[in-house]
Amino acid sequence: MIDATATEIARAVNAREISALELAEAAHVRILERDGAIGAYLSETYELSRIAAQRVDDAVKAGTSLPLAGVPLAIKDNMCVAGTTTTCASKILEHWVSPYTGTAVQRLLDAGALPLGKTNMDEFAMGSSCENSALGRTVNPYDLTRVPGGSSGGSVAAVAAGEATVALGSDTGGSIREPAAFCNVVGFKPTYGRVSRYGLIAFASSLDQIGPITQTVEDAALVYDLMAGKDPMDATTVDRALEPTHTALREDLRGVRIGIVKEFALSALEPSVRAVYERAYADLEKLGAELVEVELPTAEYGVATYYLIAPAECSSNLARFDGMRYGLRVEGADIGETYEATRAAGFGDEVKRRILIGTYALSSGYYDAYYVRAQKARTLIAADFARAFATCDAIACPAAATPAFAFNAKTDPVSMYLMDYYTIPMSLAGLPSLSVPCGWSAPTGGLSPMPLGLELSGPLFAEASLLGIAHAYEQSTRHARTVALPAIPHVAAGAPA
Ligand code: GLN
Repeated sequence: MIDATATEIARAVNAREISALELAEAAHVRILERDGAIGAYLSETYELSRIAAQRVDDAVKAGTSLPLAGVPLAIKDNMCVAGTTTTCASKILEHWVSPYTGTAVQRLLDAGALPLGKTNMDEFAMGSSCENSALGRTVNPYDLTRVPGGSSGGSVAAVAAGEATVALGSDTGGSIREPAAFCNVVGFKPTYGRVSRYGLIAFASSLDQIGPITQTVEDAALVYDLMAGKDPMDATTVDRALEPTHTALREDLRGVRIGIVKEFALSALEPSVRAVYERAYADLEKLGAELVEVELPTAEYGVATYYLIAPAECSSNLARFDGMRYGLRVEGADIGETYEATRAAGFGDEVKRRILIGTYALSSGYYDAYYVRAQKARTLIAADFARAFATCDAIACPAAATPAFAFNAKTDPVSMYLMDYYTIPMSLAGLPSLSVPCGWSAPTGGLSPMPLGLELSGPLFAEASLLGIAHAYEQSTRHARTVALPAIPHVAAGAPA
């Protein structure tokens, strides 16, 4: 049962074919067996999962049916869960314990999910490979010499390696979709404002969204429906009727128009990757969709725009980590020196780089030249999408230009930033967007085939239509199942991966 989907597990627990406690045990054993090699988790919360399981079993015995009864859940370590360390994979928060539980997590726990532990990530969610974690190393379960993607690398690796049924990630510019593509799982970023950010440690507040990472689109819809909706604790959540997505899944694409972006020409991709996307587009057509060309002339400015807006917001959000209120404190001769020593010791290089860029872009004299211009570009990008969606229901494109790469392959920051070329424009426009497994690159020379993801994006608030389209594609292709997970060696927990 531990390898089943969330939908199957909840059904079996509600039918009392298996207990939630048995699932908590099985998930714990799985983590002990595999996480020494994979490194998906920064901390395991075994006791919490047993307590949650007991509560689920009692409720089910009393006749209550819970939509996520006994579903093992992994939580990215930038989300607060009361009583757990919430580190953002940073030295500055290494020993900080959350005093409360965030809304999205709480809604899933109320639905019967079992909190297994907190997963590794790029420090403060800044990165595309998980290599910026200051606290651990996560590998790709499909090839242990490659990165899992990032920043939600631990969450995708946990689901891919069977160490969790469902995981939560956060996506600011691609951090759910790119790693999901790298690890052969479904990763879904909802419309900005659909899921509460209360209890999510902020990176760039106008972009951050929490979303599900799952084996199937059906599970993503199930989890999204339970998490979404207005939250009085987050003023940016939208008070707008929710269309249930889990009941809107479809099996074909008749009458659906899929936009193919003129500026995202597949000829730019390496041939074995290009072939996978050509087939993916053809498969959409086979299912009855009409492919239409759409233009996103400003999308190519997405990465440049994002790397002004996101650092600007992070330089402000991360000002609170100063040794006074949370986490690490390194004493200096006076308060100014204490701030400096704490931040110098507590933040890693990439976080410092972003704080410097952001502070510069917001400083007087440069504010209009950089930050304001970036905001204008953001508006143009959103307008391009709005025009495109006048002629199509969803846009299809690669989630990333390459499959997962080797550790230390991207040493200059810009080559890492470009990993989000296909995901950042949707984030800037606030759109719902997901990655669904779409096939395998076929490398030569004895290298393992690596998974690729098809990115599907919809208009604002069109979650139901988008997940329906993704489900039809997934069910007819089932790429996630075509290559089995390689054997994962047993490595004692805590040993270097
Ligand atoms: N890779 C991008 C960055 O480093 C996106 C990260 C994210 O979505 N959190 O900012």
